[in-house]
Amino acid sequence: MAAPLVVDLSQKLEQDMQIYPGDTAFTCTPTASVEKDGYSVHSMTLGSHTGTHVDAPYHFFANGNQIDEIPLSTFIGQALVIDLTTKGAREIITWADLAPHSCRMHDGVIVLLHTGWSAHWKTPRYYDHPFVSREAAEGIMATGVRVLGVDTLSPDETLVDGTEGKFGFGTHQIILGCGGVIAENLTNLDAIMDKNAIVSLVPLNIRGCDGSPVRAFASVKV
Ligand SMILES: [Zn+2]
Repeated sequence: MAAPLVVDLSQKLEQDMQIYPGDTAFTCTPTASVEKDGYSVHSMTLGSHTGTHVDAPYHFFANGNQIDEIPLSTFIGQALVIDLTTKGAREIITWADLAPHSCRMHDGVIVLLHTGWSAHWKTPRYYDHPFVSREAAEGIMATGVRVLGVDTLSPDETLVDGTEGKFGFGTHQIILGCGGVIAENLTNLDAIMDKNAIVSLVPLNIRGCDGSPVRAFASVKV
């Protein structure tokens, strides 16, 4: 049997990387070096939503599950990648766009919206991503799916000043309000389009936190 093909779905954590407006900048600074100390160690600063990451219900709900309270099995599942590359800047993704795929949506499936916007990572255009309507989020949750991943900064509209867009944070509220989780800043979704793939979005086990960076990947059956 051929070994499964592993596809990295993560953006690299690095100095001056793009973050959600107002979030903590990422740094990774040496505190010891092989030359001076005989070993190398780094100190890092980052936000809970830096790079490719997952949001826990606690991100929007004070009594929602924190990242360390969600079963690991939630973050691993069959991928359903939906092609939305025809969507333009700040265009809304509606339930009508997703409904044709709803027969493949059920509990345990991880729905990944492939807008192609990861191509704009590190550019101002990355903020102008398409976003998901509240009724589309309700439609996804009605199927039993509890994990939605996007190749954008947020499934809701992003304003560069960090404030709410005119549709607010409706998709965050619906998905996290149903006890679901959201993965953001995914990349390489085109590589698993129409493939039989298991996705892993496993977070760090951080007590009391609202989210966590992840090394998202897909294992593709070949
Ligand atoms: Zn987030």
